[in-house]
Amino acid sequence: MDALVIHAPGDLRIEDVPTPEVGASQVRVRVRAGGICGSDLHYYQHGGFGTIRIQQPMVLGHEVAGVVEAVGPGVDTRVKGQSAGQSGGPSVGTRVAVCPSRPCGTCRFCQLGLQNHCLDMRYYGSAMRMPHVQGAFRQEMVIEANQAFALADGISDAEGAMAEPLAVALHAVNRAGPLLGKSVLVTGCGPIGALTIIAARRAGATHIVATDVVAQPLRKAAKVGADETINVAEQPEALARYGADKGQFDVLFEASGNERALRSAFEVLRPRGVIVQVGLSAAELTLPLNTLVGKEFDLRGAFRFHEEFGVAVQLINQGLVDLKPLVSATLSFRDAGRAFALAADRTQSMKVLLSFD
Ligand SMILES: [Zn+2]
Ligand SMILES: [Zn+2]
Repeated sequence: MDALVIHAPGDLRIEDVPTPEVGASQVRVRVRAGGICGSDLHYYQHGGFGTIRIQQPMVLGHEVAGVVEAVGPGVDTRVKGQSAGQSGGPSVGTRVAVCPSRPCGTCRFCQLGLQNHCLDMRYYGSAMRMPHVQGAFRQEMVIEANQAFALADGISDAEGAMAEPLAVALHAVNRAGPLLGKSVLVTGCGPIGALTIIAARRAGATHIVATDVVAQPLRKAAKVGADETINVAEQPEALARYGADKGQFDVLFEASGNERALRSAFEVLRPRGVIVQVGLSAAELTLPLNTLVGKEFDLRGAFRFHEEFGVAVQLINQGLVDLKPLVSATLSFRDAGRAFALAADRTQSMKVLLSFD
């Protein structure tokens, strides 16, 4: 079975890796679609991000969907498929989104219900720990049955693979608190920013403004429901007018990791506004702390997700969100160099997916 392995920046290889036996409470999934995430791109372009570096070969990827092709002993398949709150696992032939998050379930933070802060997290395709956790860009994988979330008929593999980034956006929305009737600014319209627009709308935001410095992602942001899009490279004054009366926005989702985006948002967020930082930054940044004090901002981080994965699959299955406008292209994993170059080109692509035939 072939997998996409990164050895060093720019060095992706197709390698044969073994598929383990399907154990108790596990299922084997034939992977059909895998979304290239910003983190995969960082590994490919720079060998990592921040202090996290690739130190050994690692299978990339954590946004995948596929079809169950074998079920281990002890998996209850009486319930066809599985969604949040259901018991039982998927049967052979069920199409599933794979949850890449594997918290231990027993540590202090898991016990507190903060599984995304698990002390022993094994998140697919992550170099955060040694040995690295191998990822999901592979033709087949053995997972715990409770990582498999059944996809409804009519939902594509690509949409299923986007359950993970949608879960990230839903978690960011959860971190913001109630959005009903709120005015929201989203800075940075990559996949996470665009999905945050979708998630914020579902959560009741009545006015959503999106900013970026590239035209193509802004067009996508408008397509998925932003009320207004502003190219802050070309028309910074269009955002600045929201600075009237100490600021008009109730909530900021900062999805670019860019210092200038965060700074300019400080001017247009109202006193006691909530800032949810969901974008990671390439470097440490400097903030106008006195504005944060004077306007009494709540500055909050949002990292990964836990229960939001099941919610994401439910929203997708029920047609309550439309992710199709965000799918740019699907390329074979054997053509990964081209796929990663396309994913890195923000003038051309939003979410690029790999197929694994
Ligand atoms: Zn991701
Ligand atoms: Zn834990």
